Amino acid sequence: MRFEIVTIFPGFFAGIFENGILRRALAEELVSVGVHDLRAFTHDRHRTVDDRPFGGGEGMVLKAEPLAEALASLGIGPKADGDESVPRLAAGTRVILLSAQGKRFSQTVARELAALDRVVLICGRYEGVDERINDLYCDMELSIGDYVLSGGELAAAVVVDATMRLIPGVLGNEASSEFESFGVADAEISSDIEGVPRSQHGAGGLLDYPHYTRPAEFGGLRAPEVLMNGDHQEIRRWRREQQLRKTLANRPDLLEGAALSAEDRRLLETMRRERL
Ligand code: SAM
Repeated sequence: MRFEIVTIFPGFFAGIFENGILRRALAEELVSVGVHDLRAFTHDRHRTVDDRPFGGGEGMVLKAEPLAEALASLGIGPKADGDESVPRLAAGTRVILLSAQGKRFSQTVARELAALDRVVLICGRYEGVDERINDLYCDMELSIGDYVLSGGELAAAVVVDATMRLIPGVLGNEASSEFESFGVADAEISSDIEGVPRSQHGAGGLLDYPHYTRPAEFGGLRAPEVLMNGDHQEIRRWRREQQLRKTLANRPDLLEGAALSAEDRRLLETMRRERL
């Protein structure tokens, strides 16, 4: 899978993909990233990429022409007016505008993107990007959260990181991305993934359970005894309860869409009563 990032600050990405999982994925050519300097698509002495907003107001706006040229260099044309028979980009490619006004980026969106061949990420700056770029070239606007960043670069790095780790082969253990926060339910997990202890289970849209490692005692706190007794069934039950407890405490909104068993619902009822 390939990511193309269009930015006025290509230097921002120096080093960002040179650590950990992504570095390995790049070295093994499971993922590739192209960073494209928007200023390379300007034609004036000052390499101008921005201009004042029509209608007045604060700040500057990224101009449409350099962005259109940058996209053309990646083989991406404008949407044909209502004519679906005219291909504007290769199948398996999506063009995304990073924007605080976009749909919220989530693990579900990351899963959708991980199934594509190529994702083009346009990083805005200043007041944003001339809206005609969104209208003519973009398949979606994505926001990484309800706050305003100074540029789309951090958001692009977040999208690349969260998406690439879902590409088969990128994580050492195929199962890792299944057994973590926002993961799918047990029923959806590919059967017989090798090396998965029976003490694990899919999050089913919940948050992950807490993790502990040696030493067994730290800062006057002992790691939960249940995790050290080797009883997989008991560990599984404890982990599920912790997932429910954490989700109820920190992200109760996730419970609505979560895959919950009758036992989960009973536990949640007890937890809610405890909290009253
Ligand atoms: N005027 C814009 C607004 O109020 O929505 C904010 C522009 S922001 C200062 C500059 C750029 O940062 C945006 O064009 C976008 O690319 C990026 N950006 C800011 N917040 C973002 C977010 N939450 N998610 C993704 N990108 C964001």
